[in-house]
Amino acid sequence: MKKIVVLGGGISGYGSAILAKKKGFDVFLSDKGKIADRYKAALDQWEVPYEEGQHTEERILAADEVVKSPGIPEKAPMVCKIREAGIPIISEIEFAGRYMDKARAICITGSNGKTTTTSLIYKILRDAGYNVALGGNIGESFAYSVATGSYDWYVLELSSFQLDGMCKFRAHIGVLTNITPDHLDRYDYCFQNYIDSKMRITQNQLSNDYFIYSGDDEVIWQQLPKYDLRMKQLPFAAKNAVASGAGDAFLLDGKFTATVGKSSVEIDTNRMQIPGLHNTYNAMAAALAALAAGVAPEQIQRSIYDFQPVEHRLEPAGEINGVLYINDSKATNVDSTWYALESMKRPVVWIAGGTDKGNDYEPLKKFAREKVHTLVCMGVDNKKLVDNFTGIVPKVLSTGSLEEAMQAARAAARPGDVVLLSPACASFDLFKNYENRGELFKEWVASHAK
Ligand code: ADP
Repeated sequence: MKKIVVLGGGISGYGSAILAKKKGFDVFLSDKGKIADRYKAALDQWEVPYEEGQHTEERILAADEVVKSPGIPEKAPMVCKIREAGIPIISEIEFAGRYMDKARAICITGSNGKTTTTSLIYKILRDAGYNVALGGNIGESFAYSVATGSYDWYVLELSSFQLDGMCKFRAHIGVLTNITPDHLDRYDYCFQNYIDSKMRITQNQLSNDYFIYSGDDEVIWQQLPKYDLRMKQLPFAAKNAVASGAGDAFLLDGKFTATVGKSSVEIDTNRMQIPGLHNTYNAMAAALAALAAGVAPEQIQRSIYDFQPVEHRLEPAGEINGVLYINDSKATNVDSTWYALESMKRPVVWIAGGTDKGNDYEPLKKFAREKVHTLVCMGVDNKKLVDNFTGIVPKVLSTGSLEEAMQAARAAARPGDVVLLSPACASFDLFKNYENRGELFKEWVASHAK
């Protein structure tokens, strides 16, 4: 019996292990850290043997194939040993993709906008009555859905790490929202390596498949000539004129028309509930994907107008004394905060800071100058932010906790202002993760709104 080892016992790993078990493999899961109780309970229920707190090398190196969770870096010692032993390592997506049967996959990747675009495409298909599962980096894993359900469509959010372990998997509809530098620590600090990884979304696509991408993204444009792209290309844009024989989407005067073959849908972005140019891009990508999947234009329109911001992404958190509080805790890099500031229509008190990932703040200065009257820095070390924005924003304050930051923001805000939490940094100095940061922000607002 073929031996499968699953490396990593998080959401992706336990899903892969259950799928391997269901498909009759001799499976073993190994995690060097702790495995969450709920995953252990599921592994027990499916009678999958596992270990935590260690990697038993002889058992792992006896595998015919290893399914590696996306969180484990390529440089991890166990991964190096598996490679040295010549054992193939694949990602969960590659593994689960083998068992999709006739179902079709819509896969979304990019540096920013993945979750929003994935959720929007999923909503459109579900509202239209499709038999569809959501997976990848969002919700349950793809492998778990394949193991426990039977679907016609999968809408999958793919990180670059998941794309790295793909060899035969193919996206019937691939979406690339944008490419800006991120996660360079996992790519030898080489932007091109990260770009190559994102471009894998086009790998194995056939002539009837679709590739949806930002026509305004210079990085993507520069890559296209390097590839033999046989699929139908569907670019979306607000700046560059793009035209593709297969279809496209273009924004003009607040409205965009998305066209695929003979069907097209017009969207008035003022009727959308997700603000900003970035969300218009996300909606263009989603409309193209839904048209390519055969959804009727009027259904696409209805679902897009109905779609609410995903939690922690420019999510309205409440009002206190005429000041609107917005939670954009998921903005953990400069590009996402750029779009947050871009979308602001009222004077802004901006809360930013946290763990800096080597940020270059220059791109934010234009909007900061135009829209922000107070910057509240919230972090253990605020020096870089303070230095960058002193003289750009009239008032720059340094705080070391959420409570202190919120008090400062509240004191600085005037009726009609927005208090925007859009940190441009990771959260790990003061919080467990970005979700925890966003939740505490919202709790503070709720408790002071009373
Ligand atoms: P991801 O899953 O790629 O991290 P999200 O949809 O969760 O993307 O959004 C992450 C952050 O980026 C949020 O702060 C959001 O407001 C911002 N954002 C969303 N879409 C885009 C986009 N197309 N371009 C730039 N920033 C975006």
